[in-house]
Amino acid sequence: MRGKDPLVSCGSCGRSVPRSKAVQDNRKVSYSTELRTGDDVSFTDFRKVYYCISCAKHRKIFEKKKRQAMSKYNR
Ligand SMILES: [Zn+2]
Repeated sequence: MRGKDPLVSCGSCGRSVPRSKAVQDNRKVSYSTELRTGDDVSFTDFRKVYYCISCAKHRKIFEKKKRQAMSKYNR
């Protein structure tokens, strides 16, 4: 089925994987102008990243998601 399953690139190894098979995670990104003056601006953002199955396993994203789900149910 062409066009039904868009490819995303893995945030770790760069491999193209179908989005339905990719694992989504939020990566914390910090920006700073590093002007070292009073005008210095820094802020933190969350960027959506995708990982292929093997990288997700390697980065223990599944366990993280499981923990998040567990803590939700234990409330
Ligand atoms: Zn990967």
